[in-house]
Amino acid sequence: METSKPHVALLPLPGMGHMIPYLGLNKLFATHHNFKVTIFLVSIDHSSQTESKTIISEMNNNLCNIVQLPPVDITSLVDPNATIGLRLPITMREIVPAFQSSIAALKPCPIVLVTDIFGTDAFSVAEEYNMLKYVFFPSHAWLLALTIYTPILDEEVKGEYVNQKEPLKIPGCASVRVEDLFDPLLDRTNQQYDEYVRAGIGIRMSDGVLVNSWEELQPKTFAALRDDKLLACVLERPVYPVGPIVTRSGNSSKNDLLFEWLNQQPNQSVVYVSFGSGATLSHGQMIELAWGLEMSKQRFVWVVRAPTEESGDKAYLSGRSGDKNHDQFGYLPKGFMSRIQNVGFVISDWVSQVDILNHPSIGAFISHCGWNSTLESILKGVPIIAFPLFAEQKMNATMLTEEFGMAVRLQVLPSKKMVGREEIQKTVRKIIVDKEGHGIRDRVNELKYSAEKTSCKGGSSYNALSELAKGFEARMQLQN
Ligand code: UDP
Repeated sequence: METSKPHVALLPLPGMGHMIPYLGLNKLFATHHNFKVTIFLVSIDHSSQTESKTIISEMNNNLCNIVQLPPVDITSLVDPNATIGLRLPITMREIVPAFQSSIAALKPCPIVLVTDIFGTDAFSVAEEYNMLKYVFFPSHAWLLALTIYTPILDEEVKGEYVNQKEPLKIPGCASVRVEDLFDPLLDRTNQQYDEYVRAGIGIRMSDGVLVNSWEELQPKTFAALRDDKLLACVLERPVYPVGPIVTRSGNSSKNDLLFEWLNQQPNQSVVYVSFGSGATLSHGQMIELAWGLEMSKQRFVWVVRAPTEESGDKAYLSGRSGDKNHDQFGYLPKGFMSRIQNVGFVISDWVSQVDILNHPSIGAFISHCGWNSTLESILKGVPIIAFPLFAEQKMNATMLTEEFGMAVRLQVLPSKKMVGREEIQKTVRKIIVDKEGHGIRDRVNELKYSAEKTSCKGGSSYNALSELAKGFEARMQLQN
């Protein structure tokens, strides 16, 4: 490692879905630019941290220095039942003193801090140590625009957003329909809303914003973030589309049986079902999904997390893998495991999703539309069957179906408030068996091509990251 190269500090939010893109960014800084990188890990009060730490060490492969920050106690600040959407920003605020001590002890001191939208309180530490301050937004440009624009909506819109007759208009973006609203906007009296507005303001303190998307995927929104008189004038910071940043998480050799099974299946015949790193379904929804898959008579791989009766983001991280008792899948319909023996593979461990999507047998992905999963699906040319659950996933599902044309969305049965088995059966067959799947697959392949091109030498995301890296190097020289 050259000591004259910039040292970059990355401070992601806790949770695998948040950390994975930061590990990908770390890889680019370390391998393409030869930068020294230190990642600061923040714990949230949950047992899944042990699992995350193991996966992160495997993924890091000694590329960067990892500093585990001591856990912070937020029990006196939030209700024990507070959602993850509230616990995250509070934890990130409370971690600042520990982060400050770690930075003080680090030699050489980093010259850049890159953090998430809820990490901008740590910019005070960056200022103290004369570091550049960047936000890496691990999601897409539409959500970034909404985040920056929410403080304006907060002043302009009277009453609850859910009661608005018209969709919310965001410059450079499709309007946000009330039924797709991002969770923090659902209740303006909730502290989670205040934290989100605060985050939208906090971004303005940065020197620039990196986004895990690319210019050609969302051209209008990136143009608005740069030039729109409402949006760009509030942000007034350069925006760098540097995505898609995707990285393998986990070791596929740990899932040998699964890959042996996949090897025996015909090309594009298997539906992969997973709801990301922390989401779980209610028991009722899980039963419908199981029946829907079975009734479709198509092959599938299902990464199952134990069900929960909590809803929305309260359920996030509450049903973990590895509940390995004698009746591990006892919550699935009676006899399901034996009936699906030859067509389905059910697994509760952490799997290497990127490797699964890369397998030629995979023909579709039933996904909650988390942004990492979406990017991974695009890069592997796999169409999505959209099954959004919470957070920004409903917005994502709308974007994937209506704007990108790479997905079909499962409709919720109003009477049951869940997706019924017939809907799942019908949609799986539509994508795997019927011709309708072909158009969507062609569209995903166009996006895949665009995604590959942007990250290659001379591509727009490659250039954006190189420009940023040059800025870091110039700063380094100034300080030397
Ligand atoms: N993931 C994985 N194996 C699993 C579950 C999840 O590799 O068993 C990875 C997946 O590849 C993706 C991330 O975890 O990179 C999930 O991120 P996403 O944004 O899709 O959803 P979130 O977990 O944030 O809800």
